[in-house]
Amino acid sequence: MPCKVICLIIFNIMLMLNHASALEICGKLQQGELLHIKDINGKQVRWNNKQYSMYNGEILIAVPRDAPQVMDLIVYPFSEAGILYQLSIERTKWDIQHIKGVAEHHVMPNRQHQQAIMREQKEVKKTLSIDSSEDYWRKGFVEPVKGRISGQFGNQRIFNGVAKNPHNGTDIAAVEGTSVKASGDGVVVLSGKDYFYSGNMVIIDHGRGLQTIYAHLQKAIVKKGDIVKKGNIIGFVGKTGRATGAHLHWGASWHNIRFRPHALLDLESTKCHKIEGTYLGE
Ligand SMILES: [Zn+2]
Repeated sequence: MPCKVICLIIFNIMLMLNHASALEICGKLQQGELLHIKDINGKQVRWNNKQYSMYNGEILIAVPRDAPQVMDLIVYPFSEAGILYQLSIERTKWDIQHIKGVAEHHVMPNRQHQQAIMREQKEVKKTLSIDSSEDYWRKGFVEPVKGRISGQFGNQRIFNGVAKNPHNGTDIAAVEGTSVKASGDGVVVLSGKDYFYSGNMVIIDHGRGLQTIYAHLQKAIVKKGDIVKKGNIIGFVGKTGRATGAHLHWGASWHNIRFRPHALLDLESTKCHKIEGTYLGE
């Protein structure tokens, strides 16, 4: 009898005995964070209404900024029936940030600018949907620029008194022309100029749906398709696009869910714990 069949039988007997299983979760169960999920038997997960594949019993998942207090994570092992884990998500107290002195056309874009914004959003969304089977993310991450955090991820932002979308990255203030490093190993999947909001922008794919974004660059020195190593210089700090001063807008995305970029740095050191689930089969 092949091992897979024996394993399946043993696994199902275990489930029948206690109707429960344990899952290892590493990271903060909090809005806007990144989690590393481990279950040696896991093949697929269902999260935020979508299905994702696990590799070697592991997957990273992002907790949306506006996640509800409880989110269901269903892990599918060998069988079709899944195991439900109800994750209690801690709320983050998002700050309100007033930004003054923004050029009026960047606050109230005209029709022509609106078309440019739509093109930008479509292109970024498409890029952030890339799901490669590479595992670059395992090499770890660094901050792309050292500097004062001038805008936190998730802030509700008010430009010249007008409420706009929450901040989807972290702003690091630095002198114009400061080197910007790739925060992790990966492939450049976008290197574009003159975006309405983002100015000159680079996006790096780290595999398994994980990307980092670098915006408002004075100049990018990488092109689409380039393979970069953690710490390689990819461009320089600038104030292109909707920026009131020189800074790097550093973003992080998992399958188009934006999360706090510094959570990438915490991945190695983060605490892990086990939680119990409920078997959804007969
Ligand atoms: Zn920003």
